[in-house]
Amino acid sequence: MAKVTQISPGAWGVSLPFLGEQDIIGSYLLAGENELAIIDPGPGSTLEPLLGSIREAGFEPQDVTHILETHVHLDHAGVTGSLIRLLPKAQVYVHSKGAPHLIDTSKVVASASRIYGERMKMLWGEIEPTPAERVHTLEGGDILKVAGRRLEVHYTPGHAVHHVIFFDAHSGELFAGDVGGVRLPGVDYVRPPTPPPDLDLEAWTESINLVKSLRSDVLYIAHFGAVRDIVPHFGRLREKLYAWGDFVLDAMHNGKEEAEIIAMLIEWTQPELQRIARDPHALQRYEIASNYAMTVQGYMRYWRKKHPERLT
Ligand SMILES: [Zn+2]
Repeated sequence: MAKVTQISPGAWGVSLPFLGEQDIIGSYLLAGENELAIIDPGPGSTLEPLLGSIREAGFEPQDVTHILETHVHLDHAGVTGSLIRLLPKAQVYVHSKGAPHLIDTSKVVASASRIYGERMKMLWGEIEPTPAERVHTLEGGDILKVAGRRLEVHYTPGHAVHHVIFFDAHSGELFAGDVGGVRLPGVDYVRPPTPPPDLDLEAWTESINLVKSLRSDVLYIAHFGAVRDIVPHFGRLREKLYAWGDFVLDAMHNGKEEAEIIAMLIEWTQPELQRIARDPHALQRYEIASNYAMTVQGYMRYWRKKHPERLT
């Protein structure tokens, strides 16, 4: 079952149960003026818990008018096509570079199937296309009037080339997707989620600066929950983004293969997490939120694609 928590007037945080865990994948609901919005509806495998969370917040799924995507990765937007089929009033809002992957899911399904193989269905459930006429494209600078709020859309590439955040300047709440990295409740540790194929450290740095410049009171990150110490949080994220990137680059220089680099990165970084978390289960939880294999694959692709000169 999903866990639902009211976070402010007209806003709820939802924990979607994933692989038996709570507080790893988050969604948000906004309600007001006869509109109901979901920010990052999550994977297809948590469709039922998501619908349950809407009822638990006191609404009917049929009332959903807006589905806002920070980006189209499966843990954030995989359920979109199935939702759209069930929710007649819902319209989808996504960055123009992400929209094609919701309308035609074949590339996403193919690349995820290569990575996840037989675990695909268990992890991500159904991945259905969204009819183009239900998809509305966003660009940085757009303003969305949703559920009685005025949400600024800011373009924040780095984690994904089509990543956006939604900022309510009036309430000070910023719905950050993955631009703020992974920091699980109760563990004071920020992990850089750096999956292929779009990872871009320079773009991500600019996005961090942009988000900081908005001076929000709170970031709601997808993995997971509220971040209020925003400046130090981003400082630690940026430091790790580059430190891990340099580590992978060094290993590539030394002729290491992907599997070896994954093992080396785990050996190098896990002691710190272990020390901070003091809970062996935290390692598994961070791995579910952003696994080491994808992290290394993302960096390796980034270095090859964006900085081939640094590999010679
Ligand atoms: Zn994510």
